[in-house]
Amino acid sequence: MSKPDFSIAILGAGPVGCALALMLARHAADPADILLVRGAPPAGRAAPSAPGITPPPASVIAPIPAPATAPLAAPAVPALPARPRAAAPEADVRVLAMNHGSRVLLESLGAWPRGTASIHTIHVSQRGRLGRTLIRDTDFDVPQLGAVTAYAALHAALMRQVEQAGITVRALPGARLAAQDADGVTLADADGDSLRCGVAVQSDGAGADDIRREYGQHAVLATVRAALPRDGWAFERFTREGPLALLPHPAAPDTYAVVWCCAPERAQALAALDQAAFSTALLEAFGDRLGMLACLAPRHVFPLFLSARRALVHGRTVAVGNAAQTLHPVAGQGLNLGLRDAARLAQSLASWLGRPAGAPTEALAAYTRARRGDRWLTAGLTDLMPRAFATGLAPLEHAGGLALLGLDLLQPLRAPLARHLLQGLRA
Ligand SMILES: Cc1cc2nc3c(=O)[nH]c(=O)nc-3n(C[C@H](O)[C@H](O)[C@H](O)COP(=O)(O)OP(=O)(O)OC[C@H]3O[C@@H](n4cnc5c(N)ncnc54)[C@H](O)[C@@H]3O)c2cc1C
Repeated sequence: MSKPDFSIAILGAGPVGCALALMLARHAADPADILLVRGAPPAGRAAPSAPGITPPPASVIAPIPAPATAPLAAPAVPALPARPRAAAPEADVRVLAMNHGSRVLLESLGAWPRGTASIHTIHVSQRGRLGRTLIRDTDFDVPQLGAVTAYAALHAALMRQVEQAGITVRALPGARLAAQDADGVTLADADGDSLRCGVAVQSDGAGADDIRREYGQHAVLATVRAALPRDGWAFERFTREGPLALLPHPAAPDTYAVVWCCAPERAQALAALDQAAFSTALLEAFGDRLGMLACLAPRHVFPLFLSARRALVHGRTVAVGNAAQTLHPVAGQGLNLGLRDAARLAQSLASWLGRPAGAPTEALAAYTRARRGDRWLTAGLTDLMPRAFATGLAPLEHAGGLALLGLDLLQPLRAPLARHLLQGLRA
């Protein structure tokens, strides 16, 4: 049996793949033994994106359906669903809210991005109903609830550290997991070149649709300037159309990133409005708590869905981040959850990396066990929230409003929910 080219190959250099590479490099005798693959999904697998739609993070790499006790014969790769093509990280227009736990993790990696906007208070409300709750950093023992960064800035900070750490980075367009056997995994790219690794991590941005829910919502992303900005405040407003978030924008203290979730046709119409008309529509939905809102930049539309793998591990392949579960962006949990996946996987693989000739079965099983509670609780919360307030059923919506009011009044109820959204379950 020949030694694989790399102990671990990480397929997809988004924020979760980069953070994982950095954490694994700490445990590797030689960081160059970790391969981080950057590139695009295989050509021909991607569906053309609809006009005006910004492609969401996407993967076309299906799991290799080989159980841990797989026979030596390489399993066939199943037919892949057509998915929209992912944007290059440098061009990704998302603005991301990171919680305190993610901040601590990224700082420990030296990858806290330049230019962030702090969140000290989160205002949660429901359009047309009674009830709102305030979550403040003073309620918890943290200097801030979180911070907002541009996806591209976070990615650049992580890549700087990846390069300094001596991790091997390769651009392999069209890379895919081609096969696996008892000794390792084969990766192949669009040119037909292949390489072998002991463990392959899928961090390509979207996973198998073992569990899938279409929300009938798209997110309109916009940037607005507020006449009456509130320093360090973020807003999550539940409307019948879907949640509407305004996050403090790292560009300037009076600027907010808007994530407006609504029906696909409405999203297209909002994206097509001129800036003045969009500002008026936003003011109507959000209210005047920040004064007049002026739309600044082009808008982008992302389709929203839940997609999750039941099994994170197949033989020597394992999924993290959006490849493991892609969530609705309500409450800004996807990246935070993905970073916790990465931290736990690095921890689980640490001792195996010391002797990578052996089978990683126990290390990967430990990862699966450790991630179960956090990923299903976070997926469940973010799945429930956008739907509970958008039923059109008055009793349910009243219940949602009362729940918000209850959360505002009842510190014992509010604390666990906020703490989970701030830090996630600690394994
Ligand atoms: C509108 C919106 C708002 C959001 N807001 C927040 C928020 O406020 N807070 C939060 O925590 N989360 C948020 N999220 C979720 C967050 O963006 C994702 O959870 C996060 O980006 C996942 O990171 P990742 O590295 O797993 O995947 P991605 O960011 O998708 O990165 C995957 C990378 O892999 C690359 N790739 C794909 N296929 C291949 C291949 N074959 N070979 C090599 N590379 C490949 C892709 O090009 C991409 O660069 C939001 C999502 C959306 C849609």
